[in-house]
Order: sequence, then C-alpha cells, then structure tokens
Amino acid sequence: MQDPFGHLISYLRVSITDRCNERCLYCMPQELQEWLPHNEILSYEELARIVRVAATLGVSKLRVTGGEPLTRRDVLRFFDLLSEIPTLRDLGVSTNGSLLARPVPGQDGRSMAECLRARNVRTINISLDTLDRADYARTTGRDFLPQTLAGIDAARAAGFGPDQIKLNCVLMRGRNEDQLIPLIEFAARKNVLLRFIELMPVSTTDVLSDANFLPIAEARRSIEKHYGALAPAPNFRPNGPASYYQLPDSAQRIGFIGAMTNLHFCENCNKLRLTCEGKLRPCLGSFLEFDIREPLRAGASDEELSQVFLDVVARKPKQHDFRENYQPNRKMVAIGG
Ligand code: SAM
Ligand code: SF4
Repeated sequence: MQDPFGHLISYLRVSITDRCNERCLYCMPQELQEWLPHNEILSYEELARIVRVAATLGVSKLRVTGGEPLTRRDVLRFFDLLSEIPTLRDLGVSTNGSLLARPVPGQDGRSMAECLRARNVRTINISLDTLDRADYARTTGRDFLPQTLAGIDAARAAGFGPDQIKLNCVLMRGRNEDQLIPLIEFAARKNVLLRFIELMPVSTTDVLSDANFLPIAEARRSIEKHYGALAPAPNFRPNGPASYYQLPDSAQRIGFIGAMTNLHFCENCNKLRLTCEGKLRPCLGSFLEFDIREPLRAGASDEELSQVFLDVVARKPKQHDFRENYQPNRKMVAIGG
C-alpha cells in the first residue's frame, strides 16, 4: 500500500480496548468516563481478521495498544491468533507496564512479560513519566510506580533486549522537568532506551495547555547543560518516529518525539491505526476515520475489506493537523497512542 506521497504503509497500530487501569492526566478526558459497550468492541477474531487482511496488503509491523491492552481479558489469546499470521515480522506492545510482572493464571507461574515473549512479541514500549512515586500517582491517577518498575525488570528478565524495551516519557512543564536526568540515569542502569515525547492535543483536558507544553528542544538543552552536547545519531532508527541523540562519552542514546515542533515529523510516516471499535484512521492528528466494523460484520469478503484499507491509505494526509487548531473529538485511550 502506498499513500499519495509515496510512503509505503507497512505498520498498523491496533487498539484492543478503550479501558485502562490508570488515568493519565493528558490522556483521559476530564468528563465522566463511559467505556464503550462490549458489543461495540471488536472481538479478537474480528481484530485478527482485519490484521490478516492488512498483512496481505504489506503490513508487516504491528503494535498492540489501548487503553491498557494488558487489561483486556484473556489477552494472550489475541497474541496466539496473531502468531498464526506468518508475514507479521515485527510485533510490539505499548503498555503502562503495571501488569508485566504479574503471573498469568494458567501459565505455570510465568509473568505476562514472559508470556508475551513466548508469543513472538519483539518490542515493549512502557510509559514512565517520573520516578517519583507521589508524582507518578498524581500523573497517572494510580499509585502503581512499584508495579511499573517491576514490570520493566520482568521484561528484561523475560529476555527483551536493550533496544527492545523503550521507556516513553511525556514531557510536561512544571511536572516532570526535574525528572529528565533521573530518567536518563535509570534507563542507563536498566540498559533500555528512553524517549521523551511532546504533549499532543489528543484528549479533552485542561492539562493540554500551552503552559504545560515543554518542547523537545528545551528538554534537550537542559540535558545538554548536565551532560554536554548531544550528538545526533541519524542512523539509529529502531522503528518509530523518534530522533535519537547520543550522550557524550557514553553509548546511551536518547530519543525525542517532537510531533508538535518537528516540522519534518510526518515525512517518514508509514502507519495506520485501528481503533478498538473498528475505525481505521490514517493519522492520529486528523479527524479522518473510516468504519471497517460495519462491512466486517455484514459479511464483507477479504477483497472488500482490502478495499477499505486502500481507500484509507489513499486519503492519508500529508501531515497531521495538530498545529492547525486541532480539537480532539475522540479520547486518546480509544484511538490508541
Ligand atoms: N496504556 C499504554 C501506555 O500508557 O503506554 C498504551 C496506550 S497510551 C495511549 C500510548 C502512549 O500515548 C503512551 O506512551 C502515552 O504516554 C502516550 N500519550 C497519551 N496521551 C498523550 C498526549 N496527550 N500527548 C502525548 N502522548 C500521549
Ligand atoms: Fe492509560 Fe496509557 Fe492513557 Fe495512561 S497513557 S491513561 S496508561 S492508556
């Protein structure tokens, strides 16, 4: 699949639930939560069928996300279904990490991280905005820092390598500016990658204000004040939108995801998103979305479902609308970050 700008589309992010066991300030909308009714959420079989169609169209990389994907009941069954799709070569999970260390019932005491690894999951992205327990609880609405740290250890113990675990830190002025150096040192100790992410207007909450926005350039400057000049590592691209920089006199690389301030951010985009209720979105920062659940449930053939994908790819915008007064119409937990 090729979009109008010549990008080959090979990456699908699949949100499997809008539910979450945390309540991150920048992700959950402020108004009262109503979860999607069960029958609106695609079943594992429906999700896997859509992924199979995408795989025949050239999607080889998949990231399972949410909400918190590991809260969905019997989630390993979904990974079992995915493992039957031979052309999926790169399978990843985005998680808040709080459930990775927990033993999975019926799996001989193995942790969730071990069970995922046994099902061909290659990479795990774990959200971690702060190492301060009280701040973690304030930002995520839950006192889960110990579980999340245990989850990072469980992922390492399960055999995920240094480039296969990425910690994602969303930058917020006045909230975690003081955590940049502690997080860099933590990532070095754990031998995992760390990425700093600019706040994006993807939810309806007061937190997403200009006052709270901390640009990656400013974060980089304060890191340089501490360590000295960072050197760009342009050839280091372990899949994804981050630009990596190398710390002086160290092998450690730090990723920066500047969706708002990097004007070249969309240039190499190869991704589509599928929401848990069956909307295909060509871009996180655009209102466009196309329903694939209705044709799927009405008995569409694989060819007809393929056509939905091709229509979506043909409408992929050149770049996101975040800088154009974009107002979110849908919560991030439902889209799947
Ligand atoms: N629950 C999982 C997690 O926290 O990683 C997966 C879903 S979460 C929506 C995916 C990523 O989106 C997380 O790294 C989270 O920090 C990021 N995210 C959520 N809201 C965001 C926002 N307003 N701006 C930037 N990143 C955001
Ligand atoms: Fe949940 Fe992840 Fe959103 Fe936080 S960022 S509320 S953990 S889905």
